[in-house]
Amino acid sequence: MPVIAIVIPVFNEQAVLPELCARLVALFEAQPDYRWRAVLVDDGSRDESVAIIRAQNARDPRFELIELSRNFGFQSALAAGLEHAHDCDAVVTMDADLQDPPEVIPEFVASWRAGAEVVRATRRSRAETGLRRIGFDLFHALFQRLTDFPIEPNTGTFGLLGRDALQAYLQLPERHRFFPGLRSWIGFPSAAVFYDRQERAAGQPQQTFRRLLRYALDGVFSFSHLPLRLLTYTGLFVALIGFAIGLFFIVRRLIGVEIAFTGFTTLTTLVLFLGGIQLIGIGILGEYLGRMYDEVKQRPLYVVKRRTAGRQ
Ligand code: UDP
Ligand code: MG
Repeated sequence: MPVIAIVIPVFNEQAVLPELCARLVALFEAQPDYRWRAVLVDDGSRDESVAIIRAQNARDPRFELIELSRNFGFQSALAAGLEHAHDCDAVVTMDADLQDPPEVIPEFVASWRAGAEVVRATRRSRAETGLRRIGFDLFHALFQRLTDFPIEPNTGTFGLLGRDALQAYLQLPERHRFFPGLRSWIGFPSAAVFYDRQERAAGQPQQTFRRLLRYALDGVFSFSHLPLRLLTYTGLFVALIGFAIGLFFIVRRLIGVEIAFTGFTTLTTLVLFLGGIQLIGIGILGEYLGRMYDEVKQRPLYVVKRRTAGRQ
């Protein structure tokens, strides 16, 4: 029987875990043709999440728990779960907060059985509104233009990887991980399944705005060299203007126009403007350099504190 693991990073989700477990059990019971494993990765929760998952594991050993030694962030927790599930025939990746409804998983499985190695869940609608929504839309528009490996707009982590795609993903060694981008990078035949993104079932979003911004920057910087190229173009453009202005003054001098000492405002503006552009340039270089430093250090993505194994 094919084994399918559902990998779920969990960070302070005590409010939704009981419902999550119940809905997963319902899914497992409705799909008896597969052996199901739920791999819950606790990303250093400070609430009762671990106790709830452990109790669930005692009742139903299809639920497994991996506890990380501290909060490593969503991407690392996801990688921990996927590595743990490396021997499965397929893995489903999803959030714990039930914004990704487990009820669409049978459709992923059907697509996978029909030959798709990568299944992406595509949102027909999004429950988020306001600033968060604007942020998500902006990011997708920007990412689309910047990178050579576009991710479909309206897709996130939710989806399925077949065995080959999973092995390919596990071979990617990088520390700054942007899952949708990596999933697009590995290739393979893919399919989309449409669903309606739900409101969080309970609790607060655990991804703060700062984290989402960092995540977005990771996406851009690890999938595009365009910021660097833009810098080169800006430099060329400014140098060209400088050259033209220089020429203008030389010619004026040669034809004998007197130069009075004016232009204080122009000078200050130019100095500040160029200084600003240079600092932005150094900042962009720094973004790449800092990421290179992280890669070179070769630290593991996460540290496991304890595993509570399951049985299928
Ligand atoms: N999460 C995590 N580590 C973190 C932050 C979040 O494992 O440091 C998990 C969280 O428990 C949830 C998923 O990542 O399962 C998505 O988080 P959230 O719903 O807060 O983010 P959003 O829906 O806003 O992207
Ligand atoms: Mg969420």
